[in-house]
Amino acid sequence: MTDGTDSLDGIARAVALHLRRQRLAYDTRYLRVRSAPTPATPPQVRPAPTTAQSRSARPKPAPSKSVDAKAALRSQAESWSAATKLEYLRKKNVGDCRRCGLCQTRQNIVFGVGNPEARIMFVGEAPGADEDRKGEPFVGKAGQLLDRWLVELGMSRADVYIANVLKCRPPGNRDPRPDEVERCSPFLRAQIRAIRPAAVVALGRHAGMLLSRRDDMSLRAMRGARLDYDASSPKEAPRSLLIPLVVTYHPAYVLRQSGEAEVGATQMVMADLRRALDLAAEA
Ligand code: SF4
Repeated sequence: MTDGTDSLDGIARAVALHLRRQRLAYDTRYLRVRSAPTPATPPQVRPAPTTAQSRSARPKPAPSKSVDAKAALRSQAESWSAATKLEYLRKKNVGDCRRCGLCQTRQNIVFGVGNPEARIMFVGEAPGADEDRKGEPFVGKAGQLLDRWLVELGMSRADVYIANVLKCRPPGNRDPRPDEVERCSPFLRAQIRAIRPAAVVALGRHAGMLLSRRDDMSLRAMRGARLDYDASSPKEAPRSLLIPLVVTYHPAYVLRQSGEAEVGATQMVMADLRRALDLAAEA
């Protein structure tokens, strides 16, 4: 027989067991929910662009500022006067040129002088000692003879433009070297393109050879030939700007003659210069 204590104990144990089970069930459910790993967010995969899309999406290189500025300057310069073009060329392009070794021995760069609107342009080979000292072409005795020829034709220096193939004096008045001509001749071409003379007169065989690009002809042969100076720029088709070219004796050569030889040489020069005037009148 029991005194009832046993049955009370049994009831208490049963109640405690029930509570534990409930707590366990609650914890299990609760903890499962709390500790369950958050499902990972799948990485967002963008569709691969098509070839055309990827090309168009590629950043385009920004145009170079210096290229833009040069193009703008070129188009602006087309409307400049010949005088402005020559001044720009002298100051900005030739400047204190050091493109060839003659810069080391020159006193002055001899750019050119005369009328920027001239119909006739005279071109010598290179400055001599007087020109180097003064920075002006055809001064000294040879220049004075050229002035007399012009007067005989009813002109003056103010009517023509005078320049040389080389802008600096070769030491000892030696012949220009091919590399010097190659580096300096773009300046002369730019001068001729700015002035657009109706005819060019080359003074002396070397200037004639350099301008006509005929190194196989004597001065006598060049005098009688129909020649042109090709003033096309490197960006143009060759021979797209041809200017009639007359080759005659250099005044220094005529000064070295005497007697009949001097008279004969002077007559030939005057005939050549009149032919140049005729060509200019026809142009
Ligand atoms: S000869 Fe012409 S290229 Fe040579 S340094 Fe003089 S200007 Fe420049």
